[in-house]
Amino acid sequence: MTINGNLLVAGTEKRGPNGEFHGIEAATGKPLPISFGGASPEDVEQAAEQAWQAFATYRETDLEVRAKFLEKIAEEIEAIGDDLVVRAMAETGLPRGRLEGERARTTGQLRLFAREVREGRFQELRFDAGDPSRKPVAKPDLRLRNVALGPVAVFGASNFPLAFSVAGGDTASALAAGCPVVVKAHSAHPGTSELVGRAVQRAVSSTGFHPGTFSLLFDTGFEVGQRLVADSRIRAVGFTGSRRGGTALMEIASKRKQPIPVYAEMSSINPVILFPGALNARATDIAAGFVTSLVLGAGQFCTNPGLILAIDGAALDAFVARTAELLRDVAPQAMLTPSIAKAYCDGVAKLRQHSEVRAVASGRPGSEFEGTAALFETTADAFLANHQLQDEVFGAAGLVVRCRDLQQLEAVLDELEGQLTVALHIADEDEAAARRLVPKLEMLAGRLLVNGFGTGVEVSPAMVHGGPYPATADGRSTSVGTLAIYRFLRPVSYQDFTKALLPAALR
Ligand code: NAP
Repeated sequence: MTINGNLLVAGTEKRGPNGEFHGIEAATGKPLPISFGGASPEDVEQAAEQAWQAFATYRETDLEVRAKFLEKIAEEIEAIGDDLVVRAMAETGLPRGRLEGERARTTGQLRLFAREVREGRFQELRFDAGDPSRKPVAKPDLRLRNVALGPVAVFGASNFPLAFSVAGGDTASALAAGCPVVVKAHSAHPGTSELVGRAVQRAVSSTGFHPGTFSLLFDTGFEVGQRLVADSRIRAVGFTGSRRGGTALMEIASKRKQPIPVYAEMSSINPVILFPGALNARATDIAAGFVTSLVLGAGQFCTNPGLILAIDGAALDAFVARTAELLRDVAPQAMLTPSIAKAYCDGVAKLRQHSEVRAVASGRPGSEFEGTAALFETTADAFLANHQLQDEVFGAAGLVVRCRDLQQLEAVLDELEGQLTVALHIADEDEAAARRLVPKLEMLAGRLLVNGFGTGVEVSPAMVHGGPYPATADGRSTSVGTLAIYRFLRPVSYQDFTKALLPAALR
């Protein structure tokens, strides 16, 4: 399978003329063979223009043909074979099993959206019959459907090189909605991006769609992404990454002549609340589950459980002691990029140096490219007085906050920023106290779960992977599951349209 570092612009390929960069082997920090060329402003212009032209036909494609196209992308990704996994392993440091699972999730998502397109429910067709005899005024005939927003710019995520990158959830849901896609590849996995980009390009070509339906651009800095978001032909943005990156793109989008939605998934520390009954009954079991979730993928999941809230006492001591014991055995793991490894190391050092935070335990030390799991604790008083203790430390670091009582735990919840998930660990006797918290938690996060941890996001019609800012830019949406398609749709109402003028689905 070819990797030559070329841009894939609307069915063609070309060397990007704007500087060059290499994929980096995550475990060693060494450059991998084959350099990638950054796109020029003209390349961005061409990708956006071609996407705009493709939109004219792609938005109205027959739903069966569009569904088959999504399935074809899945087949083309599978046809790449092991080369894809091998390249992704080198670029991200993630193990084979994880990447094979992620590939299956990626193709599964594409097939899920194919089913969603076939069913057609996302069009939300509504018919409200007119009544010319209604008094005092006649009632108009109203029909409604959702239409696609227009070309979407997708920023591949560093932590999901397949499932949230070139043909990941954002791309699948945008294409399903009828929106052409221009991807800005994440610099952390350019070779993986190119392999998948070629698979999408082949699917576009074999389905006979306009080549502008898909383009893939590389960038040596931030210029390409920023130009894309500013381009008047781009009508929405899908992004997963840092708060700084996401808010920079939100600002560009909001300053456009026609502002557009940026669906940015940014930072979340995913509080886990340990209720007294649960802690008394099974502190050590909860500790085992917590450690497994905390260190999964070197902690580089947006749903990583970074914050534990519980009431101070012997049961919490038992939980902390068992967690510390388990963590000390955890081997260091390669992080996605040298800069993510450094950011993690800096975040852990900051916690270690904080006068009101106690370092409880660490995993085994590793190289500068690896992350060592770490556990810290503090009091609710200190947490409430130091807002920066809420900052996401992207990696396997957890902070336990010891609260005096449930009232103080609630005060901590009141201070938290928007989250993707909140997990409740309860026993039967905790149910009443937990129920009282639910309305508050609904305001705080997009997904509430009981006796589990937020890592492992099911791709399903009832999933919400979203939440109030800064978890995401728009808490009304989800980036995982079939509801994700609605991010790229807009309702249009047709009043008293003649049959000939009506879109076919509304006749
Ligand atoms: P990032 O730095 O925000 O980068 C994400 C994408 O946006 C990349 O393609 C990047 O370009 C681009 N970008 C970043 N800043 C930009 C700007 N100002 N203007 C235009 N484009 C911009 O995120 P990352 O590289 O994935 O990881 C860095 C940190 O983000 C992590 O340490 C972690 O704190 C956080 N993160 C959070 C989550 C989450 O789900 N909560 C997931 C991943 C990362 P380049 O490719 O050129 O860098």
